[in-house]
Amino acid sequence: MPRSLIVLAGLLALAFAQSTYTVQRGDTLFSIAQRYGTTVEVLQALNGITNPGQIRVGQVLKLSPQPSTALLNRRTDLPAPIEALEWPRQTVQGNVAVLHLITAQPVSGQVRFLGADYPIQQNRVLLPVPALQDPGVYPAVLLLEGYTVRLDIRVVAGSFGRYILQLPPDREALLQPEKLRAERKKVVESCDWNRSQQWQGNWHKPVDSNRITDPFGTRRSYDKGVTYSFHEGLDYGVPVGTPVRAPADGLVGLAEPLFVRGNGVTIDHGDGVCSGFWHLSKILVRPGQVVKAGDLIGLSGNTGLSNGPHVHFEIRIRGVPTNPALWYWNAP
Ligand SMILES: [Zn+2]
Repeated sequence: MPRSLIVLAGLLALAFAQSTYTVQRGDTLFSIAQRYGTTVEVLQALNGITNPGQIRVGQVLKLSPQPSTALLNRRTDLPAPIEALEWPRQTVQGNVAVLHLITAQPVSGQVRFLGADYPIQQNRVLLPVPALQDPGVYPAVLLLEGYTVRLDIRVVAGSFGRYILQLPPDREALLQPEKLRAERKKVVESCDWNRSQQWQGNWHKPVDSNRITDPFGTRRSYDKGVTYSFHEGLDYGVPVGTPVRAPADGLVGLAEPLFVRGNGVTIDHGDGVCSGFWHLSKILVRPGQVVKAGDLIGLSGNTGLSNGPHVHFEIRIRGVPTNPALWYWNAP
């Protein structure tokens, strides 16, 4: 078969690859994850499943955050040195749209997307999509020396759960919005966005557990009111004292007690990517310390505003929280 036909057949196979699965008798989330080359965490995050033991025969599960993830938009009509631009056909809320520039030599510039600027680093741009961004098509404006290119990024809805609070959250916290803002600023600014990429390949789980007690993106609202916030990370329900490990290479940004987040650690992974670990009982690293994937950084706990022992794990790209589960199997 000619090479072009083989490529076409491959693309068609990807386009028609199964994107949902109907649970059969005897299935477990783990067996389904194994079969489709994904993870229990991803399936939980995609389908809003809190307890991985709770799936039922006949339930239809989403298998992929981007059913057409292999399908890219491609433009080749740009001035030299850009040979081509590639970006995903669609991106899910809380996911990352990765824009690739294909050029003979590296180029510099930036992309303006949803009111923020993202630099080109190694001919690639990571564009985080906020978890509460309304589905729709949004412009991404590539600013290069001498010209600009406008691309469209399609954002589709994720499948997130909703947590309804009967009472307002912790009153003490509500009464201190300044304190909350200052803490968030401290967390976001603990990483140097100009650092080059430190991680390689997919990330590891920070704790040896599959017990996700709250997936990323869960909407939070009062009684029957509107969404006022969402869960910015992934919660693992593990006993106090469970080892917490660096999910990827980086440098420790912050390592100190915080008001809401309790004993917290952030790791700067470069390229604007910063991970965070909250509610620890013990911090075992110092700011500036170099860590490798798997290094012990602390012990889990129940400190700060926490309603039970757990580790909250989050990944921000230039301050925007993204779904950590995706980084386990499809890190940019
Ligand atoms: Zn959490």
